[in-house]
Amino acid sequence: MFVLAGVFAIATVVLLVLGYFFPAFITYAVASILTFHAQYRMTSFIMNRADDRAREVEALSKSQNQFFSSMSHEIRTPINTIIGLNEMTMREDISDEVAENSRNIQSASKMLLHLINDILDKSKLESGKMELTPVPYATGDMFSEIVGMIWIRTREKKLDFHINIDPMLPAQLYGDEVRIKQILINLLTNAVKYTSEGSITLNVQYEKKSDRQVLVTYSVSDTGMGIKKESIPYLFNAFKRVDESENRYIEGTGLGLSIVKEFVDMMGGTITVNSVYTRGSTFVVSIPQEIEDEQGVGDLNLEARHSHSVRRHYRVSFKAPGARILVVDDNSANLLVVSKLLRDTEIAIDTADSGEEALEKTLEVGYDLILMDHLMPGMDGIRCMHEIRHQTGGLCKDTRIIVLTANAGSEEQALYVREGFDGYLVKPVSGEILEAEVSKKLPSHLVQITSDEGIAAEISEGVDVVKRKLRAPVMITTETVSDLPRSFIRTTDVALIPYHVKTADGDFLDSVEAESRGLLSYMEDGRYDARSVEPSVSEYELFFAESLTRANRIIHIAMSSRVGWGYANALEASRSFENVTVIDSMHLSSGMGLLVMEAHRMKTEGMQPDDMIKNIKALRSHINTGFIVSDTNYLAQAGRLNGTVNNIAQALLFRPVLALKKGKMGVGRIYFGSRDAAATRYIRDTLRITAGIDKRRLFITYAGLSIDELRNIRAEIEKHASFEEIYFQKASSAVTANCGPGTFGLLFIK
Ligand code: ADP
Repeated sequence: MFVLAGVFAIATVVLLVLGYFFPAFITYAVASILTFHAQYRMTSFIMNRADDRAREVEALSKSQNQFFSSMSHEIRTPINTIIGLNEMTMREDISDEVAENSRNIQSASKMLLHLINDILDKSKLESGKMELTPVPYATGDMFSEIVGMIWIRTREKKLDFHINIDPMLPAQLYGDEVRIKQILINLLTNAVKYTSEGSITLNVQYEKKSDRQVLVTYSVSDTGMGIKKESIPYLFNAFKRVDESENRYIEGTGLGLSIVKEFVDMMGGTITVNSVYTRGSTFVVSIPQEIEDEQGVGDLNLEARHSHSVRRHYRVSFKAPGARILVVDDNSANLLVVSKLLRDTEIAIDTADSGEEALEKTLEVGYDLILMDHLMPGMDGIRCMHEIRHQTGGLCKDTRIIVLTANAGSEEQALYVREGFDGYLVKPVSGEILEAEVSKKLPSHLVQITSDEGIAAEISEGVDVVKRKLRAPVMITTETVSDLPRSFIRTTDVALIPYHVKTADGDFLDSVEAESRGLLSYMEDGRYDARSVEPSVSEYELFFAESLTRANRIIHIAMSSRVGWGYANALEASRSFENVTVIDSMHLSSGMGLLVMEAHRMKTEGMQPDDMIKNIKALRSHINTGFIVSDTNYLAQAGRLNGTVNNIAQALLFRPVLALKKGKMGVGRIYFGSRDAAATRYIRDTLRITAGIDKRRLFITYAGLSIDELRNIRAEIEKHASFEEIYFQKASSAVTANCGPGTFGLLFIK
């Protein structure tokens, strides 16, 4: 009810403003509004009379549907007049004030149109009447068209527009092109609407599912206001506008995303959202489609569809003074609009207000093109088109006929193609789209293209077609405390978030600002106050947001939740994102690193993310993470050993082994005596039974050991087992801060 009131209110305002310029339309406006009102009252009356409750509900839904559908058609007709004639005003040499009024009329009527389309879609979806109409379509043309519709808005808001489409995406797919376009335009429009500076990005990738099928993933990102975590669950609810107080100046109904979600569901796809409040949002949509032509789409050609862009200063795109066309419509205002919009092309235009009159005219004149309305009293447009094609003595049997109709929607479009129309235009039609279609369908010898250079260049200027690396379907992220070899980090796309190292001198980011060597000399100076601190929730949020610009899904491997707060913070941050999974590694240091290396291997083998998560979790209990600590003072400082125990340990030269069990750090064996002797015994005990050990790799992760000490460790290890690869891994500052210099561990999978 609230929405209907809105529709009437906006309709009234738009029509009244128009009446200011074109007084004749006041009558038209009032008549239209009264018609809607009468229809609405009739519908309510029908609803009230039904006795049987079940029948009542059914009747209600049916009549509501009819009402919405006829309302949509009926409202489109006057809006066509408003938009068309207003465009004529804008083409004139008018004062700034009139120009501004005209622009406002234009945006208000487009908004009204948008609203009507949404309401119609919603009512069709709710009554189960919405059907998909899959057709073969050219992917390149679709994207060019979408870019053509969005770039001007990004330009107006001074936003950068990046487009990144996989050039190998099949050039022809089979799917409901109209709905896919609607989904993308909706998401891109929202991205522009809710972003005041920065950029919006459209990313398109695909994955081959079988010989015939691909899963296409479209992601729309912006650097805008973002969405609060608590609002995300309500985002796809109809009529729900989140953050009403902040968005009240941004026009919208809250219907768009709920329709988008239902379309995506109908097509067997998925939609997810990732957003950091105040930083921006990414909507990711995946839709399965069939392959029509496997050849890659290549680089996006913006010039192919530039005619769909909106020109700021009108310039007629072609002239055809030798052409004569017939426009058929029962509504005289529509005839007027088309004639006016085509005025500057110098085409001779005849009109007919019924199918019957059209048939009389086609007996007399051989037209070069016919524009035909569909719904007319008496003979409708489809019948009239067939009659013209078979008319005895007719002069237009071979003339191209374009349907110009207020029936929007993919079913209608398919119907017109099936019936044999040569083209399809939806009312309200802009002068530019009308010109483009007419110039394409007129016999080419009649058309003189005037000038449209400049516009393609203008689009290319505002749009950045990026040839960047494509987004990965899944990416592994972890923390600097995972102590991974540099060569591994350099050669893979695994991303790391730094832990902090806090000392009396300040707060440093692990591996970025604090090299463990610097930290070691700080500690060896007898200073024990260095502490490692996990990233905050907002640091994790930013890290995930940044990683999601590179991949559609993130699997984050965090340090054991029983050792620090990193896991809890990462988990909290992941709530802002539907595509981030945080796994508690139940390990630290290179134990975590081993899990990351295995996860990366699974990824490169093409394993599905859900299977990866299962396998990573199962692997946790097979990792051995333990360190022999040389000086217990550091443990005491890090709060891992109480003061009294530490005093005893210091006095007796305790060298404890810290090991991770079920994620918890505990003291395992304790060695005594010299550092070397303890190390030798630690190695021997750890590698005593080698049967179950995975020999592919061993980490010797250490802090503050000399080359000689490392050589000795290696020689000792080789006495017990041989590994394909041994990594001497310097522990990160965070681990160093906890265990202190002289620490090392043998880490492996068993
Ligand atoms: P609306 O017509 O209000 O834009 P939608 O259904 O498209 O309706 O969106 C619902 C709500 O989701 C919006 O009101 C807005 O609060 C939020 N929203 C949608 N897209 C974005 C975005 N890209 N950035 C921030 N908020 C968004």
